[in-house]
Amino acid sequence: MRHTFQPHVKNSETIADMPLMCGNELAAVEFFERQRWGDHPGCVHCGSVDVYKMKDAETGERNRRYLWRCKDCKRQYTVRIGTVYEETRIDLRHWCYAFWRASTSKKGVAALEIKRHCQISYKSALFLMNRVRFALAPDNEKFTKLTGTVECDETYVGGKPRYQGQILPGRGTHKTPVFAAVERKGRIRRKVIADVNGKTLKGAIRDLVDTQARIITDDFSSYMGIGKEFAGGHARIAHSTKQYVRGDIHTQTVESAFAILKRGIIGIYHNVSREYLHRYLWQFDFVWNHRELNDGERVIIAVKAAEGKRLMYRSPS
Ligand SMILES: [Zn+2]
Repeated sequence: MRHTFQPHVKNSETIADMPLMCGNELAAVEFFERQRWGDHPGCVHCGSVDVYKMKDAETGERNRRYLWRCKDCKRQYTVRIGTVYEETRIDLRHWCYAFWRASTSKKGVAALEIKRHCQISYKSALFLMNRVRFALAPDNEKFTKLTGTVECDETYVGGKPRYQGQILPGRGTHKTPVFAAVERKGRIRRKVIADVNGKTLKGAIRDLVDTQARIITDDFSSYMGIGKEFAGGHARIAHSTKQYVRGDIHTQTVESAFAILKRGIIGIYHNVSREYLHRYLWQFDFVWNHRELNDGERVIIAVKAAEGKRLMYRSPS
């Protein structure tokens, strides 16, 4: 399985350390500093390594705002600068908890749980989770298209039906169509789509899947004809006639990924509107794509992904 970047993991830093970092602000700050700078903290303004931790004049303890100062450019900074947690007053130990929960929970984590656990306002908890999800978003510049055998499928997610009890499958409800492409034993990529017609679904496959790949779908008519664009061809499984497996031709990987997503959306979030669904897809894709790592490694990847995502609070689609 391929990762976009390798974790900077210190062996001593395991998931067992997370409760300490989530409960103690100094421990959390030092955790974020270690992950960001390793053993060589540099000035975020000029890059100089001639820097020091500021101390409180009275107590001699570390400065209450955890400031650093650069001897070269004389400017001050903290580990928050240039990250998704810049410009908020939310403690880093709460960020740590949110990163931990979002990157290790298969089903997801609700803002309400963050509110209760961290004892912050619901508004802050929502803000926190939105930023954490943004940190988990795929980096489109580093994205390489899915390859090998790739299962593709579409489904409908979330959305509150207008009348309680009258949940119609698929079209005609307020559910949102989502497309997914999954490498066997590899990466997943999901996206919110406008509709499930052939033009849209084939476009989604072209966007996400390498032309060398072999495509597997069910026998939904929208996928017909895509095979000639892919070197590995297009195998279809006839769901409409209750056929589910034929040799290695099946869509069970993508169906299981959709099942996890739906359990999370319904069980944890109850509902996600079309407007915000893509953010949840980032989170679920992140957990899936890093499932072979242990929880501690996954948190560290998430924290490191937060770097450099301060300003671009835009959808990478
Ligand atoms: Zn400097």
